[in-house]
Amino acid sequence: MKWLMRKCTQCSRYTLKSICPNCGASTRIPHPAKFSPDDKYAKYRVKASELASTTETIAESVSD
Ligand SMILES: [Zn+2]
Repeated sequence: MKWLMRKCTQCSRYTLKSICPNCGASTRIPHPAKFSPDDKYAKYRVKASELASTTETIAESVSD
């Protein structure tokens, strides 16, 4: 998921534009890029595989 919302540096209005439609000031992305998209997806993959193995274990014990 990408952060598309930008925030006006002057009036703090959120917008998708690089220029604030409210006051015409420049906007910036308010979320610092702490993680690269790759890192994020890797995290989700780990979480997903954890969930998958948990679900498998449950399914196995239920079907037995
Ligand atoms: Zn503004």
